[in-house]
Amino acid sequence: MSDHNFELFWKEAFNQLQTKYINDGQESEFRLWFRMDYIEDEGNIIYVGVASEFLWESMVSKGNIDIVRNKIEEISGQSGIEIKCKIKNASVVDTPVTSEVETKTTTKEKKVSVTPQELKPHPQLLERYTFDTFVPGDNSDYAYKAAIAAAQEPGKKFNPILFYGGVGLGKTHLMQSIGHYIYEQRKGDIKLSCVPAESFANEFINSITAKTTEKFKSKYRNLDVLLLDDIHFLPGKEAVQNELFYTFDALRNRNAQMVFTCDRPISELKGLADRLRSRFANGLCVDLQPPNYETRIAIIRKKLEIMKKDIPDDVVNYIAKNIETNVRDLESALTKMIGYSELINKKLTLEIVQSQLRDSISSSLPGNITVDTIQKVIADFYNISVSDIKGKKRDKKIVFPRQIAVYISRELTEFSFPELGNEFGGRDHTTMMHSYNTIENQLKTDSSLEATINILVRNIKDYKNSRG
Ligand code: ADP
Ligand code: MG
Repeated sequence: MSDHNFELFWKEAFNQLQTKYINDGQESEFRLWFRMDYIEDEGNIIYVGVASEFLWESMVSKGNIDIVRNKIEEISGQSGIEIKCKIKNASVVDTPVTSEVETKTTTKEKKVSVTPQELKPHPQLLERYTFDTFVPGDNSDYAYKAAIAAAQEPGKKFNPILFYGGVGLGKTHLMQSIGHYIYEQRKGDIKLSCVPAESFANEFINSITAKTTEKFKSKYRNLDVLLLDDIHFLPGKEAVQNELFYTFDALRNRNAQMVFTCDRPISELKGLADRLRSRFANGLCVDLQPPNYETRIAIIRKKLEIMKKDIPDDVVNYIAKNIETNVRDLESALTKMIGYSELINKKLTLEIVQSQLRDSISSSLPGNITVDTIQKVIADFYNISVSDIKGKKRDKKIVFPRQIAVYISRELTEFSFPELGNEFGGRDHTTMMHSYNTIENQLKTDSSLEATINILVRNIKDYKNSRG
């Protein structure tokens, strides 16, 4: 124990601050933005435990650390006190940004280091897509851990990684987080490309026209990190796939880290060359699912922390309860609400949010999905037409999507098998039952089929929402 143990002063300071914030009607501001625990002190330095570096930096830049320090100086009669933080919480320490327990300082002279060092941001990486802003949860824990492992040891353990799943579930975010991390570790001294597969394709095709394919090749085949987003845009583009295949092998030989994202499991990506398919399948394929309620709450809280906004608990719970589709929808509901409250210059209440979000919520309820919508989405997904689905063709390319459409229609609508028969080109109800049972049985043994169906269901809901 040091000469002046600050623990008692610390407690008293927090009591006083809390009382003040409550009296000012800012209880939740206090709860959100004074989240630190006394650990120990040494001389004039008080060490506090904080859940993440991000939270620490936010509290520093809001001036709250200064507020605490001033209060303690006032109570203890001491001056020149410093507050330093230790990042606590195993799972956070685990994350790359805080791979070692770091100590950050703030002093009166504002020696506050918010950005540890100047590093020019990578032009292809979105600044906010980092591990620090990603909230792992039931739906993404494995993907998150794999992403961190790949970032820490690029090109070694998990190479390539493929993240797959429906829209708005964090595929791009995780992929870019890996990029940011490696880029920062190497202090920018690295050849990294992060592009949508579609741009990769266009760039290659343009290079053929411009007779600059050699340049294209030397650019992509000499990378240290390739992040290729949305590879479901590749099917059908044979020359591009071919080029990607050679790029892939060249990069693997250099132990360059590769990360891909896709909106469905690789096995469901029709029109992809087999040799490319097996390259992807030999890597680590992880899916991302929609977050559950608890994770949705954690995500909303994190977004509020980032936006430096505060809204009442009942409003947070209401949004989390009602927006179930994906993180992007959750995010846009939240920004919509905050934008609205700033516009009318009032604090958000449950009543306001209920009436404002009514439209987007009622359309995300499962009711009102039509067989037409289901057939349309499934036809698009498998690149066939709705009349193929309803028609008589019997090739596998069509029969399978048709069976899936029957299965999903039965699950998502109130239609009976005879009624479904009518919707599917006047087929007999036994045919409908057979289709349904076929998929149901296959689901028992084929987990990638389950993933595909989840994605399709989400696409169907999204499709309906986008048309209101
Ligand atoms: P996808 O590429 O799967 O369509 P994105 O990575 O673009 O989805 O994510 C959509 C939005 O949701 C982004 O703004 C992203 O930051 C956010 N997001 C997704 N998952 C998470 C998460 N687990 N934690 C925090 N934000 C997330
Ligand atoms: Mg994406």
